[in-house]
Amino acid sequence: MPYSETCTCGRIFTTPGAMKNHQNSCTTSKKRLSAVLANAKELFAVQKAKRLEVLAIRRLGCEDSQDLVGRDSESSLLSNAVSSIT
Ligand SMILES: [Zn+2]
Repeated sequence: MPYSETCTCGRIFTTPGAMKNHQNSCTTSKKRLSAVLANAKELFAVQKAKRLEVLAIRRLGCEDSQDLVGRDSESSLLSNAVSSIT
């Protein structure tokens, strides 16, 4: 049986790691986060919405925004970890 993973957005991936990679930018999965996908969401926020940080902060609220900024260095570590996995 070939490898297969289905993202919450409906896309099917047959290569290990491909879905994880996709989820970094998948807005659908972003909205249905488990603890695992929270990492991808954070990466997305850091990498893709850096310039929209102010807007994101408004959306997330003050508490989350502080948390997001505070974990910036941790996100870099996460990014490296994901890169090594994928
Ligand atoms: Zn997806």
